[in-house]
Amino acid sequence: MTTTTECIFCNMAQDPMHAAPVYRDDRVFAIKDINPKAPVHMLIIPNMHIASLAYVGPGQVPIMGHMFVVAEEIARREGVTLSGYRLVLNQGEDSGQEIVHPHMHLLGGKKLGAMG
Ligand code: AMP
Ligand code: ZN
Repeated sequence: MTTTTECIFCNMAQDPMHAAPVYRDDRVFAIKDINPKAPVHMLIIPNMHIASLAYVGPGQVPIMGHMFVVAEEIARREGVTLSGYRLVLNQGEDSGQEIVHPHMHLLGGKKLGAMG
């Protein structure tokens, strides 16, 4: 498994005490965003440090697909399945990405504004 010691999400993936995951399995974990932009704001994070979403290839299809399956589970647990939610993956400077380790945002619990 590729990891980097400087990466906060790699450290969380390796040390369960480093984070308070609301979900964890053998491939991903989920935490509450420390700076929530909505009443429900969770991050679904692969244990594996994928260098960049810009380099995702066929080898990453299983982990990317699994993230969507876990997002569905988190949405159900958070009670937003019916009310709706938004899944966001930021990539690169123009997206405002802060943490390089790819992760999926799950936002819900209120009417979300327009994208842009
Ligand atoms: P992004 O801009 O897509 O890279 O998203 C990074 C997200 O991680 C931001 O929404 C931050 O609020 C969140 N974040 C940063 N550090 C932590 C942390 N220690 N625990 C939980 N969320 C964090
Ligand atoms: Zn990482």
